[in-house]
Amino acid sequence: MIYLDAFERVLDSGWFILGKEVKKFEEEFANYCGVSNCIGVANGLDALILILEAYKVMGMMKNGDEVIVPSNTYIASILAISKAGLVPVLVEPDINTYLLDPVLVEAKITPRTRAVLPVHLYGLLCDMDAINTIARKHNLKVIEDSAQSHGAVLGVSRSGNLGDASGFSFYPGKNLGALGDGGAICTNDEELTKILRALRNYGSHIKYQNLYCGINSRLDELQAAFLSVKLRSLDADNQYRRKVAQYYIDQIKNEKIILPVPAGSDVLNNPKHVWHLFVVRVTNRDDFQKYLRDHTIQTVIHYPIPPHLQQAYKNYSHLKFLISEKIHKEVVSLPLSSVITPGEMQKIVEVINKY
Ligand SMILES: *Cc1c(COP(=O)(O)O)cnc(C)c1O
Repeated sequence: MIYLDAFERVLDSGWFILGKEVKKFEEEFANYCGVSNCIGVANGLDALILILEAYKVMGMMKNGDEVIVPSNTYIASILAISKAGLVPVLVEPDINTYLLDPVLVEAKITPRTRAVLPVHLYGLLCDMDAINTIARKHNLKVIEDSAQSHGAVLGVSRSGNLGDASGFSFYPGKNLGALGDGGAICTNDEELTKILRALRNYGSHIKYQNLYCGINSRLDELQAAFLSVKLRSLDADNQYRRKVAQYYIDQIKNEKIILPVPAGSDVLNNPKHVWHLFVVRVTNRDDFQKYLRDHTIQTVIHYPIPPHLQQAYKNYSHLKFLISEKIHKEVVSLPLSSVITPGEMQKIVEVINKY
Protein backbone atom coordinates (compact mmCIF):
# COMPACT_ATOMS: atom_id res chain seq x y z
CA MET A 1 0.00 0.00 0.00
CA ILE A 2 1.50 3.23 -1.18
CA TYR A 3 0.13 5.25 1.79
CA LEU A 4 1.78 2.81 4.18
CA ASP A 5 5.10 3.41 2.41
CA ALA A 6 4.64 7.16 2.89
CA PHE A 7 3.73 6.60 6.53
CA GLU A 8 6.77 4.43 7.19
CA ARG A 9 9.08 6.88 5.47
CA VAL A 10 7.90 9.72 7.73
CA LEU A 11 7.91 7.57 10.85
CA ASP A 12 11.44 6.34 10.16
CA SER A 13 12.63 9.88 9.54
CA GLY A 14 11.51 10.92 13.03
CA TRP A 15 10.74 14.39 11.60
CA PHE A 16 7.08 15.44 11.68
CA ILE A 17 6.85 19.22 11.22
CA LEU A 18 8.24 21.39 8.37
CA GLY A 19 10.67 18.94 6.87
CA LYS A 20 11.45 17.24 3.57
CA GLU A 21 7.91 16.03 2.86
CA VAL A 22 6.28 19.45 3.16
CA LYS A 23 9.03 20.99 1.05
CA LYS A 24 8.60 18.28 -1.59
CA PHE A 25 4.82 18.60 -1.70
CA GLU A 26 5.03 22.40 -1.82
CA GLU A 27 7.28 22.12 -4.88
CA GLU A 28 5.07 19.53 -6.53
CA PHE A 29 1.87 21.47 -5.93
CA ALA A 30 3.41 24.78 -7.03
CA ASN A 31 4.54 23.04 -10.24
CA TYR A 32 1.14 21.52 -10.74
CA CYS A 33 -0.63 24.86 -10.31
CA GLY A 34 1.97 26.67 -12.41
CA VAL A 35 2.95 29.13 -9.67
CA SER A 36 6.38 29.91 -8.31
CA ASN A 37 5.46 29.38 -4.65
CA CYS A 38 3.32 27.10 -2.52
CA ILE A 39 3.17 27.43 1.27
CA GLY A 40 1.67 24.50 3.18
CA VAL A 41 -0.60 25.42 6.09
CA ALA A 42 -2.92 23.65 8.53
CA ASN A 43 -6.22 24.07 6.65
CA GLY A 44 -8.05 26.10 4.02
CA LEU A 45 -9.48 28.66 6.42
CA ASP A 46 -6.00 29.50 7.72
CA ALA A 47 -4.72 29.75 4.14
CA LEU A 48 -7.16 32.59 3.44
CA ILE A 49 -6.66 34.29 6.82
CA LEU A 50 -2.88 34.22 6.39
CA ILE A 51 -3.00 35.73 2.90
CA LEU A 52 -4.95 38.69 4.28
CA GLU A 53 -2.67 38.96 7.33
CA ALA A 54 0.37 38.97 5.06
CA TYR A 55 -1.08 41.84 3.02
CA LYS A 56 -1.58 43.69 6.31
CA VAL A 57 2.08 43.12 7.17
CA MET A 58 2.97 44.52 3.73
CA GLY A 59 0.91 47.61 4.52
CA MET A 60 -1.56 46.95 1.72
CA MET A 61 -4.54 46.41 4.00
CA LYS A 62 -5.50 47.47 7.49
CA ASN A 63 -8.23 46.68 10.00
CA GLY A 64 -11.64 47.78 8.79
CA ASP A 65 -10.80 47.59 5.09
CA GLU A 66 -13.30 45.84 2.86
CA VAL A 67 -13.09 42.60 0.92
CA ILE A 68 -15.75 41.64 -1.63
CA VAL A 69 -16.92 38.02 -1.39
CA PRO A 70 -19.90 36.06 -2.78
CA SER A 71 -22.90 35.87 -0.45
CA ASN A 72 -23.55 32.17 -1.19
CA THR A 73 -20.08 30.80 -0.46
CA TYR A 74 -19.20 28.32 2.25
CA ILE A 75 -18.91 30.47 5.35
CA ALA A 76 -15.15 29.86 5.70
CA SER A 77 -14.43 32.36 2.89
CA ILE A 78 -16.26 35.03 4.87
CA LEU A 79 -14.89 34.01 8.28
CA ALA A 80 -11.37 34.41 6.92
CA ILE A 81 -12.06 38.07 6.16
CA SER A 82 -13.59 38.71 9.60
CA LYS A 83 -10.80 36.84 11.40
CA ALA A 84 -8.20 39.00 9.65
CA GLY A 85 -9.91 42.12 11.01
CA LEU A 86 -11.36 43.11 7.64
CA VAL A 87 -14.97 43.65 6.61
CA PRO A 88 -16.70 41.12 4.32
CA VAL A 89 -18.83 42.87 1.69
CA LEU A 90 -21.27 40.30 0.35
CA VAL A 91 -22.25 40.24 -3.31
CA GLU A 92 -24.98 38.14 -4.89
CA PRO A 93 -23.93 35.33 -7.25
CA ASP A 94 -25.19 34.63 -10.74
CA ILE A 95 -28.25 32.36 -10.39
CA ASN A 96 -27.08 30.08 -13.21
CA THR A 97 -23.43 29.53 -12.33
CA TYR A 98 -23.70 30.22 -8.56
CA LEU A 99 -20.47 32.23 -8.98
CA LEU A 100 -19.52 35.80 -8.16
CA ASP A 101 -21.15 38.22 -10.62
CA PRO A 102 -18.45 40.64 -11.88
CA VAL A 103 -21.02 43.34 -12.69
CA LEU A 104 -22.26 43.38 -9.11
CA VAL A 105 -18.68 43.37 -7.81
CA GLU A 106 -17.91 46.69 -9.44
CA ALA A 107 -21.04 48.24 -7.93
CA LYS A 108 -19.86 47.35 -4.39
CA ILE A 109 -16.40 48.91 -4.62
CA THR A 110 -15.82 51.76 -2.15
CA PRO A 111 -12.71 53.76 -1.21
CA ARG A 112 -12.10 51.14 1.54
CA THR A 113 -12.19 48.10 -0.77
CA ARG A 114 -8.82 46.35 -0.91
CA ALA A 115 -9.54 42.94 -2.40
CA VAL A 116 -11.97 40.65 -4.20
CA LEU A 117 -12.24 37.07 -3.02
CA PRO A 118 -13.82 35.00 -5.81
CA VAL A 119 -14.82 31.46 -4.83
CA HIS A 120 -14.69 28.74 -7.48
CA LEU A 121 -17.76 27.19 -5.92
CA TYR A 122 -18.66 23.53 -6.57
CA GLY A 123 -15.50 23.21 -8.73
CA LEU A 124 -16.31 25.74 -11.49
CA LEU A 125 -13.89 28.60 -12.12
CA CYS A 126 -15.22 32.16 -11.84
CA ASP A 127 -15.07 34.63 -14.71
CA MET A 128 -11.51 35.55 -13.75
CA ASP A 129 -10.82 37.67 -16.83
CA ALA A 130 -13.63 40.04 -15.88
CA ILE A 131 -12.77 39.97 -12.17
CA ASN A 132 -9.06 40.63 -12.78
CA THR A 133 -9.89 43.49 -15.14
CA ILE A 134 -12.09 45.17 -12.52
CA ALA A 135 -9.48 44.55 -9.82
CA ARG A 136 -6.68 46.08 -11.87
CA LYS A 137 -8.83 49.10 -12.68
CA HIS A 138 -9.49 49.74 -8.98
CA ASN A 139 -6.11 48.58 -7.68
CA LEU A 140 -7.52 45.63 -5.72
CA LYS A 141 -5.90 42.31 -4.82
CA VAL A 142 -7.56 39.18 -6.15
CA ILE A 143 -7.54 36.29 -3.70
CA GLU A 144 -8.91 33.04 -5.08
CA ASP A 145 -10.72 30.65 -2.78
CA SER A 146 -9.59 27.47 -4.55
CA ALA A 147 -10.80 25.09 -1.82
CA GLN A 148 -13.22 23.39 -4.25
CA SER A 149 -11.34 23.70 -7.53
CA HIS A 150 -8.01 21.82 -7.39
CA GLY A 151 -6.87 21.25 -10.96
CA ALA A 152 -9.46 23.35 -12.81
CA VAL A 153 -8.00 25.14 -15.84
CA LEU A 154 -8.86 28.47 -17.46
CA GLY A 155 -6.98 29.09 -20.71
CA VAL A 156 -3.37 28.28 -19.87
CA SER A 157 -3.68 28.74 -16.10
CA ARG A 158 -4.87 26.56 -13.30
CA SER A 159 -6.90 27.42 -10.25
CA GLY A 160 -4.36 28.93 -7.86
CA ASN A 161 -2.70 30.92 -10.63
CA LEU A 162 -5.62 33.15 -11.61
CA GLY A 163 -5.18 35.98 -9.11
CA ASP A 164 -2.58 37.45 -6.74
CA ALA A 165 -2.80 34.63 -4.20
CA SER A 166 -4.94 31.57 -3.67
CA GLY A 167 -6.06 29.50 -0.69
CA PHE A 168 -6.50 25.71 -0.98
CA SER A 169 -8.03 23.23 1.44
CA PHE A 170 -7.02 19.57 1.62
CA TYR A 171 -9.91 18.60 3.87
CA PRO A 172 -10.57 14.90 3.12
CA GLY A 173 -13.73 15.57 1.07
CA LYS A 174 -12.07 18.01 -1.36
CA ASN A 175 -10.91 16.99 -4.85
CA LEU A 176 -7.38 16.76 -3.45
CA GLY A 177 -7.90 15.59 0.12
CA ALA A 178 -5.46 14.60 2.83
CA LEU A 179 -6.12 11.98 5.51
CA GLY A 180 -6.95 14.80 7.93
CA ASP A 181 -6.81 18.59 7.77
CA GLY A 182 -4.43 20.44 5.49
CA GLY A 183 -4.20 23.53 3.33
CA ALA A 184 -1.90 25.58 1.12
CA ILE A 185 -1.38 29.00 -0.38
CA CYS A 186 -0.25 29.47 -3.98
CA THR A 187 1.21 32.71 -5.28
CA ASN A 188 3.78 34.19 -7.65
CA ASP A 189 4.48 37.04 -5.21
CA GLU A 190 7.93 36.52 -3.65
CA GLU A 191 7.55 39.02 -0.83
CA LEU A 192 4.15 37.68 0.13
CA THR A 193 5.66 34.18 0.18
CA LYS A 194 8.46 35.19 2.54
CA ILE A 195 6.01 36.74 4.98
CA LEU A 196 3.64 33.78 4.74
CA ARG A 197 6.42 31.29 5.52
CA ALA A 198 7.05 33.21 8.72
CA LEU A 199 3.38 33.91 9.61
CA ARG A 200 2.46 30.21 9.56
CA ASN A 201 5.30 29.49 11.97
CA TYR A 202 4.85 31.98 14.85
CA GLY A 203 6.03 34.82 12.64
CA SER A 204 9.53 33.40 12.60
CA HIS A 205 11.95 33.00 9.68
CA ILE A 206 14.81 31.93 11.86
CA LYS A 207 14.28 29.75 14.91
CA TYR A 208 13.53 31.83 18.03
CA GLN A 209 13.57 35.11 16.09
CA ASN A 210 10.07 36.51 15.62
CA LEU A 211 9.53 39.24 13.06
CA TYR A 212 5.72 39.17 13.24
CA CYS A 213 2.93 38.07 15.56
CA GLY A 214 2.29 34.88 13.60
CA ILE A 215 0.32 31.76 14.35
CA ASN A 216 0.97 28.04 14.34
CA SER A 217 -0.56 26.79 11.10
CA ARG A 218 1.59 24.20 9.39
CA LEU A 219 0.93 21.32 7.04
CA ASP A 220 2.08 18.08 8.75
CA GLU A 221 4.88 16.01 7.23
CA LEU A 222 2.56 12.99 7.22
CA GLN A 223 -0.25 14.79 5.42
CA ALA A 224 2.23 16.24 2.91
CA ALA A 225 3.54 12.71 2.21
CA PHE A 226 -0.02 11.44 1.64
CA LEU A 227 -0.85 14.45 -0.53
CA SER A 228 2.18 13.80 -2.76
CA VAL A 229 0.72 10.37 -3.44
CA LYS A 230 -2.80 11.71 -4.05
CA LEU A 231 -1.63 14.52 -6.31
CA ARG A 232 -0.47 11.96 -8.89
CA SER A 233 -4.06 10.88 -9.51
CA LEU A 234 -5.75 14.29 -9.22
CA ASP A 235 -6.16 14.77 -12.99
CA ALA A 236 -7.53 11.25 -13.44
CA ASP A 237 -9.87 11.70 -10.45
CA ASN A 238 -11.15 14.99 -11.84
CA GLN A 239 -11.73 13.42 -15.25
CA TYR A 240 -13.73 10.63 -13.60
CA ARG A 241 -15.81 13.30 -11.85
CA ARG A 242 -16.48 14.89 -15.26
CA LYS A 243 -17.67 11.51 -16.55
CA VAL A 244 -20.11 11.20 -13.66
CA ALA A 245 -21.34 14.77 -14.24
CA GLN A 246 -21.72 14.14 -17.98
CA TYR A 247 -23.72 11.00 -17.24
CA TYR A 248 -26.07 12.83 -14.86
CA ILE A 249 -26.53 15.71 -17.28
CA ASP A 250 -27.25 13.40 -20.22
CA GLN A 251 -29.47 10.98 -18.32
CA ILE A 252 -31.46 12.99 -15.80
CA LYS A 253 -34.70 13.94 -17.48
CA ASN A 254 -37.10 15.47 -15.02
CA GLU A 255 -38.63 18.91 -15.30
CA LYS A 256 -38.63 19.32 -11.52
CA ILE A 257 -34.83 19.24 -11.43
CA ILE A 258 -32.67 22.20 -12.49
CA LEU A 259 -29.32 20.79 -13.59
CA PRO A 260 -26.04 22.66 -13.13
CA VAL A 261 -24.53 24.65 -15.97
CA PRO A 262 -22.92 23.92 -18.31
CA ALA A 263 -25.72 21.39 -18.77
CA GLY A 264 -25.93 20.16 -22.32
CA SER A 265 -22.44 21.34 -23.22
CA ASP A 266 -19.37 19.16 -23.48
CA VAL A 267 -18.63 18.42 -19.82
CA LEU A 268 -15.88 15.89 -20.53
CA ASN A 269 -13.82 18.47 -22.42
CA ASN A 270 -14.47 21.44 -20.17
CA PRO A 271 -11.36 21.89 -18.02
CA LYS A 272 -12.89 24.86 -16.16
CA HIS A 273 -15.03 22.53 -14.04
CA VAL A 274 -13.69 19.82 -11.71
CA TRP A 275 -17.11 18.93 -10.28
CA HIS A 276 -16.30 19.10 -6.60
CA LEU A 277 -20.07 18.82 -6.21
CA PHE A 278 -22.99 18.07 -8.51
CA VAL A 279 -25.59 20.55 -7.29
CA VAL A 280 -29.15 20.56 -8.64
CA ARG A 281 -32.06 22.77 -7.63
CA VAL A 282 -35.53 21.55 -6.69
CA THR A 283 -38.39 23.73 -5.48
CA ASN A 284 -39.68 21.20 -2.97
CA ARG A 285 -36.33 20.11 -1.63
CA ASP A 286 -37.45 18.36 1.57
CA ASP A 287 -39.84 16.18 -0.39
CA PHE A 288 -37.18 15.34 -2.99
CA GLN A 289 -34.59 14.48 -0.35
CA LYS A 290 -37.03 12.27 1.50
CA TYR A 291 -37.98 10.51 -1.73
CA LEU A 292 -34.31 9.80 -2.45
CA ARG A 293 -33.71 8.69 1.13
CA ASP A 294 -36.63 6.26 0.84
CA HIS A 295 -34.76 4.81 -2.13
CA THR A 296 -31.53 4.61 -0.07
CA ILE A 297 -29.88 7.54 -1.90
CA GLN A 298 -28.14 9.95 0.44
CA THR A 299 -27.88 13.59 -0.52
CA VAL A 300 -26.27 16.56 1.22
CA ILE A 301 -27.08 20.28 1.07
CA HIS A 302 -24.27 22.74 0.29
CA TYR A 303 -25.34 24.87 2.06
CA PRO A 304 -28.64 25.05 3.98
CA ILE A 305 -28.28 28.51 5.60
CA PRO A 306 -26.85 31.58 3.83
CA PRO A 307 -23.97 33.18 5.76
CA HIS A 308 -25.85 36.46 6.32
CA LEU A 309 -28.60 34.56 8.13
CA GLN A 310 -26.21 32.70 10.43
CA GLN A 311 -26.08 33.60 14.14
CA ALA A 312 -22.39 34.38 13.66
CA TYR A 313 -23.30 37.20 11.27
CA LYS A 314 -26.43 38.53 12.95
CA ASN A 315 -25.26 42.06 12.16
CA TYR A 316 -25.86 41.15 8.49
CA SER A 317 -29.32 39.65 9.01
CA HIS A 318 -31.18 42.80 7.96
CA LEU A 319 -29.59 42.60 4.49
CA LYS A 320 -31.46 40.99 1.62
CA PHE A 321 -29.69 38.57 -0.71
CA LEU A 322 -32.64 37.14 -2.58
CA ILE A 323 -30.62 35.09 -5.09
CA SER A 324 -28.56 33.51 -2.31
CA GLU A 325 -31.65 32.83 -0.24
CA LYS A 326 -33.31 31.11 -3.19
CA ILE A 327 -30.18 29.05 -3.86
CA HIS A 328 -29.86 28.03 -0.23
CA LYS A 329 -33.53 26.94 -0.18
CA GLU A 330 -33.36 24.84 -3.35
CA VAL A 331 -29.92 23.23 -3.74
CA VAL A 332 -29.22 19.53 -3.26
CA SER A 333 -25.94 17.77 -4.01
CA LEU A 334 -26.27 14.41 -5.76
CA PRO A 335 -23.73 11.68 -4.97
CA LEU A 336 -20.52 12.34 -6.89
CA SER A 337 -17.02 11.13 -6.11
CA SER A 338 -14.05 9.55 -7.83
CA VAL A 339 -15.17 6.14 -6.52
CA ILE A 340 -18.89 6.09 -7.37
CA THR A 341 -19.67 3.07 -9.60
CA PRO A 342 -21.60 3.03 -12.91
CA GLY A 343 -24.20 0.80 -11.24
CA GLU A 344 -24.77 3.35 -8.49
CA MET A 345 -25.00 6.18 -11.02
CA GLN A 346 -27.54 4.26 -13.09
CA LYS A 347 -29.73 3.57 -10.06
CA ILE A 348 -29.61 7.23 -8.98
CA VAL A 349 -30.72 8.39 -12.44
CA GLU A 350 -33.55 5.83 -12.59
CA VAL A 351 -34.89 6.88 -9.20
CA ILE A 352 -34.63 10.61 -10.00
CA ASN A 353 -36.34 10.26 -13.36
CA LYS A 354 -39.32 8.62 -11.63
CA TYR A 355 -39.69 11.47 -9.12
C1 LIG B 1 -13.56 23.76 2.58
C2 LIG B 1 -13.61 25.17 2.24
C3 LIG B 1 -12.87 26.14 2.95
C4 LIG B 1 -12.14 25.85 4.22
O1 LIG B 1 -11.25 24.80 4.17
P1 LIG B 1 -10.88 24.01 5.53
O2 LIG B 1 -9.68 23.22 5.16
O3 LIG B 1 -12.05 23.16 5.87
O4 LIG B 1 -10.59 25.03 6.57
C5 LIG B 1 -12.88 27.44 2.49
N1 LIG B 1 -13.61 27.80 1.41
C6 LIG B 1 -14.36 26.91 0.73
C7 LIG B 1 -15.13 27.37 -0.46
C8 LIG B 1 -14.41 25.57 1.13
O5 LIG B 1 -15.17 24.72 0.45
